[in-house]
Amino acid sequence: MLAVVKDFSRKGVSLEEVPPPDFSPYEVFIRVRAVGICGSDVRIFNQVAGGKKKIIIGHELAGEVADFGEKVHSFKKGDRVATSICIGCAICRYCRKGYFNLCDKLEEIGITIDGGMAEYVSVPARNVHRIPESVSLEEATLADPLACSIRGLEMVSIQKDSWVTILGPGTIGLLAVQIAKRVLRARVIVTGTREDRLALAKEFGADHVVNINQEDPVRFILDKTDGGADFAFEATGSGKALEDAFFSTKRNGSIVAMTVHKQIQINMEPVIRNELKVYGSICYNYKEFDQALDLIGKKKVNLERFTGNVFPLKEYDKAFAFAMSRQGVKTILKP
Ligand SMILES: [Zn+2]
Ligand SMILES: [Zn+2]
Repeated sequence: MLAVVKDFSRKGVSLEEVPPPDFSPYEVFIRVRAVGICGSDVRIFNQVAGGKKKIIIGHELAGEVADFGEKVHSFKKGDRVATSICIGCAICRYCRKGYFNLCDKLEEIGITIDGGMAEYVSVPARNVHRIPESVSLEEATLADPLACSIRGLEMVSIQKDSWVTILGPGTIGLLAVQIAKRVLRARVIVTGTREDRLALAKEFGADHVVNINQEDPVRFILDKTDGGADFAFEATGSGKALEDAFFSTKRNGSIVAMTVHKQIQINMEPVIRNELKVYGSICYNYKEFDQALDLIGKKKVNLERFTGNVFPLKEYDKAFAFAMSRQGVKTILKP
């Protein structure tokens, strides 16, 4: 079968002919029909990490059940399914509490083990989720980033009419805008640098958007929210944005950091003086993934703007170039 393979000894990825994977008694063998290119795939594309093995990348995948192991009883051939990324060991103290995303021995589909940017993939049955009738396979590839946004927003208790700042209108941020507006009924301000993305945030219901290249986001937020937002959701990868969140959230408010910041210089004064609560959120678990599929099925989120950029698997190089050019919001490959 054809698969997009990452060789960690060099930059980039390549399309290779490889044998289809085996499946264990507890695994489902899936014919992949659509797979999204995630920000983490772009990071892996650019990565060179000596010592690591080759893997097939791709975790935002949807397809049909082609076969399954003898211990799998909950699926039949042809079922439309999507897969959640975190495979916990099930026995460490975190898995025991349901925090598979925090597992001591965490494996991630398409990140640490073979994924689905290929014609077929084998996945443990517990990570396979049935797709509701009303959800297309392309839409189902968005359940992964949507589940990340859901978990992040659920770290804090956002109420109707709460002011929520969403920093960064990327896929995670734009999906969070939709949940904050349409599900949680909050009031939303979005900060970013790109006019096209800010326009999309408006289209998804944001009450205000700020281009931080043109306006001071902190002053803008303090002004619009009468002294500070209740919550901030940071999904930019920029330390400056996290600092902006600290300075524009009200006393005792909460901030959720969705991106991995390493070694940044940041002014922590408001965190202490204003008794801010800062949460980190990484990935998601089965529950949020099912919630994501359910919300997509109920048309609570509009994914039309996310599913338009589709490339055949063979044009993976064009697709990655397109994703890296940051045109469109999301890029999808079809094996
Ligand atoms: Zn992803
Ligand atoms: Zn574990």
